Amino acid sequence: ATPTALLVGTGRGAQLGILIKGPEVLESTRRVDTIVLDKTGTVTEGRMSVVSVVPEQGTDAPELLRLAGAIEHASEHPIARAIASAAAADGAVVELPPVESFQNHEGRGVTGVVEGRAMLVGRLSLLEDWSVHPSAELLSAKADAESAGQTAILVAWDGVPRGMIVVADEVKATSAEAVAQLKALGLTPVLLTGDNQAAARHIAAQVGIDEVIAEVLPADKVAVVARLQAEGRVVAMVGDGVNDAPALAQADLGMAMGTGTDAAIQASDITLVRGDLRAASDAIRLSRRTLGTIK
Ligand code: ADP
Ligand code: MG
Repeated sequence: ATPTALLVGTGRGAQLGILIKGPEVLESTRRVDTIVLDKTGTVTEGRMSVVSVVPEQGTDAPELLRLAGAIEHASEHPIARAIASAAAADGAVVELPPVESFQNHEGRGVTGVVEGRAMLVGRLSLLEDWSVHPSAELLSAKADAESAGQTAILVAWDGVPRGMIVVADEVKATSAEAVAQLKALGLTPVLLTGDNQAAARHIAAQVGIDEVIAEVLPADKVAVVARLQAEGRVVAMVGDGVNDAPALAQADLGMAMGTGTDAAIQASDITLVRGDLRAASDAIRLSRRTLGTIK
């Protein structure tokens, strides 16, 4: 393609809500065969809400939500926001108590002290690291929630398992259509997430993705992209989070949701302004058409 054609292509992109960093980006769309999609905020809305509160025997559900909400109030994570706002909105809760100490464990959960209680709130492995083991009943309820595409957050204090809070997110209305379009362009979609396997599989099935890489720690997302490249695949990635930025930079073609974080946008070659995944296939189709590889 001539330089003029490339500029026309990037200009046409801007009209479609696809911001392309420079004409040279178009070239990298040519050989892309795999597209890695971050789950939360990319395929799903990224707005979590609390679906249910399930106490262990002997624990009071409003108390579970109140103490978990208090510690999560100190975190910015979408899961934390959902739990803190559900706790604040609970009629049985007068006021959330202050947090006496707090530690965030990236991709795993939070720990700290509330009203003198040593809190653990997060994924199962976080509790297990402190030798806290939830009951068989709770683990079975957790498995049920996860196979329905939900995320179970476990809660313990003072070394005793107290229950779980189930949160859920909604798949974006346009995600399934977007995945179908990406496949029609000959790309293999891969769902990448820190969330549990069962929930990730459920969401993947809802939108038509066969390949799922779940339970990946935030710092390991970049290694997943590098591994796919080492297998000889040419990788595009779409993401929105601060955690996604290194992987977006590593990918042969990085695309950020315009609704996402500045870090993701800066690390990417293309910004999808409206946060609609269909723009990812529009971007690849437009680039290839501009390069004259498809009509
Ligand atoms: P994603 O890839 O969906 O953005 P993360 O990597 O941020 O997910 O988190 C992975 C998992 O770690 C979550 O599904 C949850 O189980 C746990 N987790 C992370 N942050 C928190 C938190 N603030 N409170 C409870 N659990 C958390
Ligand atoms: Mg995300």
